[in-house]
Amino acid sequence: MPGLYNTVVLLPDRYSRQILFPGIGPEGQRKLAEGRVSIVGCGATGTCAASLLARAGVGHLRIIDRDYVEASNLQRQTLFDEADAAESLPKAIAAARKIAAFNSEIHVQAEVADLVPGNIQPLLAESDLILDATDNFETRYLINDFAVEQRRPWIYAAAVASYAVTMNILPEETACLACVFPAQPQGTVETCDTAGILNSAVNLIASIQATEALKYLVGARGQLRRSLLSFDVWSNDHAEIAAAKPRADCPTCARREFPHLAGEGRPQITLCGRNSVQIHERRRPVDFAELSARLQPHGAVKHNDFVLKFFRDPYEITLFPDGRAIIKGTTDTAVARSLYARFVGS
Ligand SMILES: [Zn+2]
Repeated sequence: MPGLYNTVVLLPDRYSRQILFPGIGPEGQRKLAEGRVSIVGCGATGTCAASLLARAGVGHLRIIDRDYVEASNLQRQTLFDEADAAESLPKAIAAARKIAAFNSEIHVQAEVADLVPGNIQPLLAESDLILDATDNFETRYLINDFAVEQRRPWIYAAAVASYAVTMNILPEETACLACVFPAQPQGTVETCDTAGILNSAVNLIASIQATEALKYLVGARGQLRRSLLSFDVWSNDHAEIAAAKPRADCPTCARREFPHLAGEGRPQITLCGRNSVQIHERRRPVDFAELSARLQPHGAVKHNDFVLKFFRDPYEITLFPDGRAIIKGTTDTAVARSLYARFVGS
């Protein structure tokens, strides 16, 4: 247990106030140091949960995110600063750097990736617990399939405007996501880009999510909430819906059908209302220096070790080293595909 040993040598007081809390204590703190948590998505919920768990001394964090830091994130994504946005740093990388500055004694693994059926196994296989900090139901159903199939607990969390909601999913014990939401909510689904978001709503739900994670990791299973909890921080409306028991006819946890896990090769998806299309059809390692030189005559281009940005009015292409791209300025997948083929390669 090198992490704990370092703690004792370097900063003996680091966790003292938390150890004083009877629910944690020295034994709980030791369990936290051994804990392995994956956080899927590193936006507002993810940065808040990651910060709390890192400061609490959870020994192994894996942060998975497909996106890069922008100025509009800074209002609520508490691990990022203006320099991260200026550099367009991938969020997972920026988060890991910030955490290292306040807790260098834990292990943080940054994964710049979109969680898809093809990579979910290697990305989440070693986690004791999975935290949902995504912004879309497609990924949540994928996590639910994986977690139920593997009998691994996960915690759903979502926030939009002043409203936030969370639920613990303990496979074979409580309801799963598909028990509560058999299908993706239909009709107008508000997103942070259409309805806005209060940072306090996100921090509230991420704090509850992180606390449930601590309870699970220290073995306080009896204290884990078994309901779908929602809270509107503006109207003060709040509700709890029982979720203690799985639905007898749930296709996922009762019939053990996992279509989202089996779904291979989702070709491309539109990001959360941000006038962007993501392309990740194939993995093709990209040489940023070579591509920069090739793109120079066609528009402004800049790159660092993690991202390449190419500006061609009215579009902005952000490319990651594995060939994945986020194309801003369109929601038309055909336009995005053609820009990718033209400037990156088909
Ligand atoms: Zn279920």
